[in-house]
Amino acid sequence: APLLALSGVGKRFGNQVTALEGLDMEVRRGEFLSLLGPSGCGKSTALRLIAGLAEPTSGRIDFNGEHPGKAASPHPSVGFVFQEPTLMPWASVFGNVHLPLKLAGTSRREAEPAIMQALELVGLEAFRDAYPRELSGGMKMRVSIARALVTKPRLLLMDEPFAALDEITRFKLNNDLLQVWRQLNCTIVFVTHSVFESVYLSTRILVFRARPGRVAAELAIDPSLERD
Ligand code: ADP
Ligand code: ADP
Repeated sequence: APLLALSGVGKRFGNQVTALEGLDMEVRRGEFLSLLGPSGCGKSTALRLIAGLAEPTSGRIDFNGEHPGKAASPHPSVGFVFQEPTLMPWASVFGNVHLPLKLAGTSRREAEPAIMQALELVGLEAFRDAYPRELSGGMKMRVSIARALVTKPRLLLMDEPFAALDEITRFKLNNDLLQVWRQLNCTIVFVTHSVFESVYLSTRILVFRARPGRVAAELAIDPSLERD
């Protein structure tokens, strides 16, 4: 069974904007899935619905039989990375990565192994005591990825995470993200409007069309990498 399935999902904002209509898609265990399409075709909305950050107006979303936002597991089952790293400026790198575990009631000391493991994954263990203002854009994004991974989520959702970075930093992060994905054996859904990025990173691509947003085409890039 897929990790996650959306069936006939629609999302309207007011009665003007139909962001999504009749969206059918599934996310398979272990895949690196990209959602590709022009601005405004509903990719971010689809990601937010999957994350449980918003409710669909119609259709259903099944996540291992339950809604991701309501999954009763010791760790939040979904990690989310936004385009903006949204770090707390008053907290160190360590403190920022601690946050999701802190909210779950885990102390700094208890959380330290998980935090350091997440920082190692993104190559920032030496920067644990640095503050966000001391970091480059690429490094801030790495902290944001570590923060999303520290709870060991079943699913990592990324909404145009590298769109604001320069080309070289972006390419480095593409490669490092692939390493993280292989190392953790995790499932990633990655929103982008870059054809290059989607082809370079993914095992499978869903191409979205706009007005209303839905999947127009599917490309299997490397099905051998899908673990079912
Ligand atoms: P994409 O991520 O592909 O750029 P979005 O999912 O952000 O597309 O947006 C899809 C459509 O829904 C757009 O027309 C956008 O303006 C609209 N939209 C997204 N969020 C909201 C919102 N909170 N309120 C009203 N309209 C929205
Ligand atoms: P990225 O490609 O991750 O954005 P940069 O290209 O900006 O990183 O930085 C290149 C290297 O410079 C980094 O890998 C890091 O080792 C070092 N560096 C960047 N910012 C700092 C800092 N505030 N203090 C020390 N070293 C830094």
